[in-house]
Formats: sequence, structure tokens, C-alpha cells
Amino acid sequence: MAEKVLIIGSGPAGLTAAIYAARADLSPVMIEGMQRGGQLMLTTEVENYPGFPDGIMGPELMEGMRKQAERFGTRIVSSDVTKVDFSEQPFKAWVGADEYESDAVIVSTGASARWLGIPGEERLRGYGVSACATCDGFFFRDRNLAIVGGGDSAMEEALFLTKFASKVTIVHRRDEFRASKIMAQRAIDHPKIEVLWDTTVDEVLGDDLVTGIKVTSVKTGASSELPVEGLFLAIGHDPNTKIFQGQVDLDPAGYIVTDPGTTTTSVPGVFAAGDVVDHYYQQAVTAAGMGCRAAIDAEHWLDRVGP
Ligand code: NAP
Repeated sequence: MAEKVLIIGSGPAGLTAAIYAARADLSPVMIEGMQRGGQLMLTTEVENYPGFPDGIMGPELMEGMRKQAERFGTRIVSSDVTKVDFSEQPFKAWVGADEYESDAVIVSTGASARWLGIPGEERLRGYGVSACATCDGFFFRDRNLAIVGGGDSAMEEALFLTKFASKVTIVHRRDEFRASKIMAQRAIDHPKIEVLWDTTVDEVLGDDLVTGIKVTSVKTGASSELPVEGLFLAIGHDPNTKIFQGQVDLDPAGYIVTDPGTTTTSVPGVFAAGDVVDHYYQQAVTAAGMGCRAAIDAEHWLDRVGP
């Protein structure tokens, strides 16, 4: 028999949806993925999640949400969904050869940080290369650091890194930032921040730890080495929607399209919440809020329309 609600993904959106769906007696199944808990599992302290005046560690927050979802009867499967079929009722999702059927589905697979794909980057990941300044900045006290990107994230993270680093070089491939003016100006004006305009990073240097990066001017083609002990990437995120291509409408950047003000996707009965929908706010609390809405939308849809 088909499940009532299947939730795919287990960040704040998926887990909040699970808590709400479970408390609504929908007995949800959550396929949490191999990287359970989403991006907050990669952070250290979360200081802006309401209700924790002294902050809380990201993994602890996610563990709490998971326990809360289980407490009300969410059944959790610790695997990745490999394929879905939303073309007819009941909807189907596969984990390898195991098939799940459900009347409603909530997609909350999140987004993943982009990487440059340059030599040395993968080898030195965790040894000076990071895509999360808020997670790893703390380890780089009094070091020279570089950060790649020209958006709000790059500005925010460069400013954050100045708390620890002796110097932060923002390497940007163009001659102007995409970031909001106020954020960009704050970064440009900061005494510890220098900007390398029109420059790409082509290689991360170092044997066991990062010792520098190879940079090239897009204007002159001249390459040089910049001695840094950390390279942070802030070049955006990609939504985790590969398995949903051709199943629900995606926008040109690959995010799931929802009707304004709802979590309804192009397929009635399939709902989406969190960073997989939202390329702008990308916050734990906004994702959790959307997860709550998705569960309520799914509940109402099952009541009113049903499969
Ligand atoms: P973003 O706005 O898409 O910016 C990504 C930046 O990375 C761009 O400057 C882009 O360069 C650069 N980039 C992308 N691929 C690259 C590559 N392969 N090599 C070199 N550079 C590359 O992403 P984001 O900064 O993560 O922001 C995402 C959204 O969240 C935005 O809407 C942003 O406003 C919002 N946000 C808001 C705040 C805030 O208000 N406090 C904080 C963080 C994020 P180009 O400019 O040349 O394309």
C-alpha cells in the first residue's frame, strides 16, 4: 500500500515537514540521504536559530530535529533516492532496487556548494580548502587567506574571515561585484581585505596543506603565485535536483519552481521546500518555515483532493 507522505531530504526543511506531517497523523517516511541533516552538519555554531540564545552546534540542532520527527512516528530511511517517477499516482521513488510509493511527496533535497574543479582543490579539501567560511574560519587565526567569488556570500564570508585572518584577498573574475552595494563597500573598505579584480584561481598549491594559489589575470593572461594558507570558495550553490529533471518544473538554475506563496510544484501532490526552492534566503530558519508549510500544504491537498 502507498504511503501517505514521502519526504526526500533531511535538512531543516525536510525534518520540520516530518514533524508536522507526523503530528498530523500522516505517518511520513523520510528518505534522509547519505549526508543526513544537510548543510548544517557541516557548520559549527549556529547563533541565529531562534530559541538558542547561547547558540547551538549545527549537528546538535539537526539531531534534535531528527529525534523530534522520530518521536511522532516518522520512519527514517538512511539512503539516497536514486530515481523518482511523478508521472502518475501513486508517486514512486527508488532507493536502488527498493521502491517506495506515496500519495504525496515533499522534496527537500537542499543545495550543495559549488567547487571550482581546479587542480589541488579536491586533494586539499579540509586541509586549507573550504567552501564554508563560517565552519572553518576559526582554524585560520593570523593566516593569509583568499576567498573566491563576488556575490553577497563572498562579501559576508570575507568580512567574517577578517575576525581571524591577518589578511583576506578576495579573488574575483570580473571588475565589479555582484553583491549588494552596501556589502561590497563594506568589504572593499575593510583594512584587512584586498581585492584582486579580473583574476581567476587556476590551481591550489601545497603538498599536505595549502601554501598558495596560482592566479591569472583575465586581462593580461599573466599568472603568479599568491601565498595563502587557506582558500575559501563562495561561488554559489547548486540545487540537488538531478533526479527531478523532467519530473517537476525547474527554473533555469535548476531550482524547483513553486507557485508563489505556496510549496506546490508543477505536479499536484508534489511539494518542495527549503534550499532546493530558495536561492535567496538559504537560512535554516527559512527552510524550516517552508518545511512546515509543505507539510500543511500536503495535508490539505490529501484532505481536499487526494490521490
Ligand atoms: P551568487 O550571488 O550567485 O554569486 C556567486 C559569485 O561567484 C558571483 O560573483 C560569480 O561571479 C562567482 N562565480 C561563480 N562561479 C564561479 C567560477 N566558476 N569561478 C569564479 N567565480 C565564480 O551566490 P551567493 O553569493 O552565494 O549568493 C546567493 C544568493 O544569496 C544571492 O541572491 C545573495 O544575494 C543571497 N545572499 C544574501 C546575503 C545577505 O543579504 N546577507 C548573504 C549571502 C547570500 P560573477 O559575478 O562573475 O557571475
